[in-house]
Amino acid sequence: MLPFAVKKLVFYSYKKGMMKMFGCIFCQVAAGQKPGKIVCEDDQCVAFEDIHPKAPVHVLVIPRKHIATLNDDLAGDEPLLGHLLSVAARVAKMKGIDRSGYRTVINTNAEAGQTVFHVHLHVLGGRRLAWPPG
Ligand code: AMP
Ligand code: ZN
Repeated sequence: MLPFAVKKLVFYSYKKGMMKMFGCIFCQVAAGQKPGKIVCEDDQCVAFEDIHPKAPVHVLVIPRKHIATLNDDLAGDEPLLGHLLSVAARVAKMKGIDRSGYRTVINTNAEAGQTVFHVHLHVLGGRRLAWPPG
């Protein structure tokens, strides 16, 4: 059993978006500490291939800054979130799916299927994508 103080620290760290302290996998990819097939990167974000692709093209665009979910306090991060979209469009062009079509998705919390709690934009394409999504 973890002592109460440790549980409290983990809980508040999670709420403050500081999970990287506890080994956020996407922070590690962004820092080059975990392998990732990088598609492109800049000072604000990194785009890399999804390890379990759900379509012929499946790239994740993440901010270098650790933000756990879109429910976090995003004050001041609006330009960063907009930048992710513009990088997603650049990735689509690089992958040759900008004209055929692609989908950009951010899953938030359990019912949407979020499994990694570091905001990431999925860029999916290369096949016809069903709508509505499952
Ligand atoms: P989500 O379900 O929206 O949280 O998406 C998480 C995505 O991250 C899934 O599509 C996973 O396949 C992908 N993923 C998890 N770990 C890694 C990793 N180390 N490198 C690349 N993609 C990953
Ligand atoms: Zn992180």
